[in-house]
Amino acid sequence: MDLGIKDRVALVTASSKGLGREAARALAAEGVKLSICARGKDALAKTAASLAEEFGVEVLSTTCDLTDEGQARELVQRTADRFEKIDILVANCGGPPPGAFVDHDADRWRSAVDLNLMSAVYLAQATIPLMIPKRWGRIVFSTSISVKQPIDGLILSNSVRAAVVGMAKTLACELGPHGILVNSVCPGYFLTDRVLELAEKNAQKSGGRPQDQIDRWAGQSVLERVARPEEFGPLVAFLCSQKAGYITGTSIAIDGGFSRGLM
Ligand code: NAD
Repeated sequence: MDLGIKDRVALVTASSKGLGREAARALAAEGVKLSICARGKDALAKTAASLAEEFGVEVLSTTCDLTDEGQARELVQRTADRFEKIDILVANCGGPPPGAFVDHDADRWRSAVDLNLMSAVYLAQATIPLMIPKRWGRIVFSTSISVKQPIDGLILSNSVRAAVVGMAKTLACELGPHGILVNSVCPGYFLTDRVLELAEKNAQKSGGRPQDQIDRWAGQSVLERVARPEEFGPLVAFLCSQKAGYITGTSIAIDGGFSRGLM
């Protein structure tokens, strides 16, 4: 299916690897021009080069720490300067550390808010004014399945991502009249570096093997496996597409049936 977004411009953040890179790949496959970012220069340059080579699209890469308001705004400006517009924003960032309530002091909470809420706020604030005059836009916030069903031992993620979904739903209402669609995607367990690190940390705590933890997560999905990273991008690309023109304000799980709620 042609998603109807060839030559659109997308800013996909935290995208040198993992879910962000997969979202960028799926958009590149549709002929979308890309602006990608991450903190580490080398991995980012490698990803930019491979996307440009594989899909023949323009890729702008910017090293950037999204918890820094100035850097996040500069990233948006740089993208707009290069492509003269931003049609699509996929707001993604790193994940907060695991732990229970007793494990985190107030500074850790503030860092998690900066990482997962404020980064999304800065990106949306800077990008929306570029979309409104065009009367077309797609914003996807990448959160976690924890917004539908809290995950044990991830209180920071469980808490802060709920705020992002609250913002996304409200933004969908405010921006609908301007032709801008806003949705959230809620991934379950995808086998990325982040999930491998979480498995290792859990194994250190419990004395087991990382693979035992991955198997336990797999068992929580009704499909009895964790997801392959490349299974993430197509959902994001569809939500960013012309075809998804009547989908806004949703939070869509992509979790292999992990969450047991009805909606
Ligand atoms: P990952 O570790 O594989 O990739 C993270 C990417 O984010 C990298 O490109 C890294 O450079 C970038 N990044 C991290 N902090 C950044 C910052 N401050 N500024 C700019 N870039 C930054 O992680 P992932 O598995 O792709 O996860 C991405 C997000 O999705 C995280 O917030 C994670 O918690 C969340 N998530 C992941 C899963 C999963 O199964 N992988 C499930 C639910 C939620």
